[in-house]
Amino acid sequence: MPDIVRRKTPTVNIGNVRVGSDAPVVVQSMTNTDTADIASTVRQVAALARAGSEIVRVTVNNDAAAQAVPFIVDTLASEGIHVPIVGDFHYNGHLLLKKYPGCARALAKYRINPGNCSIGRKDDDNFRTMIECAVENQKPVRIGVNWGSLDQALLTRMMDENARLAEPREARDVMIEAMLVSALDSAAAAERYGLRHDQIILSAKVSGVHDLIDVYRLLAARCDYALHLGLTEAGMGMKGLIASTAGLAPLLLDGIGDTIRVSLTPKPGGDRTEEVLAAQQILQSLNIRSFAPLVTACPGCGRTTSTFFQELAQQVQSYLRDSMPAWRQRFPGVEEMKLAVMGCVVNGPGESKHADIGISLPGTFEDPVAPVYVDGRLFVTLRGDHIVEEFQKILDEYVHTRYGAGASRELVEA
Ligand code: SF4
Repeated sequence: MPDIVRRKTPTVNIGNVRVGSDAPVVVQSMTNTDTADIASTVRQVAALARAGSEIVRVTVNNDAAAQAVPFIVDTLASEGIHVPIVGDFHYNGHLLLKKYPGCARALAKYRINPGNCSIGRKDDDNFRTMIECAVENQKPVRIGVNWGSLDQALLTRMMDENARLAEPREARDVMIEAMLVSALDSAAAAERYGLRHDQIILSAKVSGVHDLIDVYRLLAARCDYALHLGLTEAGMGMKGLIASTAGLAPLLLDGIGDTIRVSLTPKPGGDRTEEVLAAQQILQSLNIRSFAPLVTACPGCGRTTSTFFQELAQQVQSYLRDSMPAWRQRFPGVEEMKLAVMGCVVNGPGESKHADIGISLPGTFEDPVAPVYVDGRLFVTLRGDHIVEEFQKILDEYVHTRYGAGASRELVEA
C-alpha cells in the first residue's frame, strides 16, 4: 500500500493539541447545545471528548454564551477533561471578544468566518478586532470560509469582473475562486495584524462533494497553512456519512487535511458522538490512524443459517467499543488489532487468517462448529451453545497476552 505523503504545513498548537506538519490528523466536532446552558454543554463536550473528539467547537453567539465559556472550560477541567474548546464566532465576535475577556482567554482557538464579520462595512475593522484579541491572548484562529456565507461584496465584484471578460468562466469556478481569495486574503490580513503564520488554520467548506475536492486541492496548492476539512451541511444518516466519506477520502489520500469534522445532522434526540466515530472510521479505513480494533464481517448471504451471525458481529463490535476506554490505557497498540467475524467457511477461514483473531460460524448444511483462528493459525474449534462467551474469552486472553505489559506474545489454548 503506498504511503500517504502529507502536505507540509507549520505546526499549530491548539491548547494541548498539535495540528499540521507531522502531527496525526485530528478529529474534531461541535456541540449543538445552547452554550449558555452550561450543564448541557459540559455534558455534551464530555461525551464528545470521551468518544474521541480531540477538539470541540461551541457556538459563541451572544452575551450569555460568551459569559458561559469560562465556566464550561473550568467545569470540564475539574472533571479531568482538557479537550481544547474553540469558539465559533459570527457577526458579533468582535463585540463579544472585547466585552468578555474571560471568554477570549478561556477559548483555545477562535473560528472566524470572514464572510459575515464585516457585513455592510467598507473596512475590515471587525475582523481586525478579533485578530487583535487573538494576538493579545496568543490564540490560534481558524479562518473558516463557507460557501453559504461567502463574502457577498467579494463574490459580486468577482462575478462582475468575470462577466466583462471576453470568455467568462463558469459561475461555479468564480465561486470557488472567490472562496480561495476570501480565505487567503483574510489570512494575509491576519498576519498583517500580528497573528503568526503558525497560528492560522484555513477551511473552505462547501456542501457538494466535487466542489469540496476541487476547492481544497486548489487551496492546498496555493498555501502551506494547516487545513481543516469538512463537508458542510453533510446531512442526515447514511447520506451524510457517505457524502462526507466521498469528499474527504480523496483529499486525505492526497495528504491534504490536518483536522477533520464529519458534520452529520443527528436525528432528534440522537447521539451527537456519531460524528466523532464517523470521522475516526474514515481515518482508520484509509489506514491514516487507528482508534479501535477493526472488525471485518461478511455481509451474510443465503448460506448464513440465522441471525446468530449478525448478532455475534454486533456483540463483538459493542464489546470492543465498551472495552476500549479501559483497554486504551492498559493495552497500548490494541487499537491496531484486526478481527474477522464471518458467516460460513466459504471466505471465513481465509479472512480469519488475515486477521489477528477470527471466527467463522457454521453456514447452512455445515457442521455446527466455529473454527477460531489466532495469528493466522487454527487455534480452536468452538461448538455448542456458548460460542459467543467462549469467543469473547479468547479475545480477552489474546488482548492481555499480546498487548499487556510484560506478557508473552503467544496465546496458548487452555
Ligand atoms: S462468508 Fe459465507 S456467509 Fe459470508 S457472505 Fe461469504 S458465502 Fe455468505
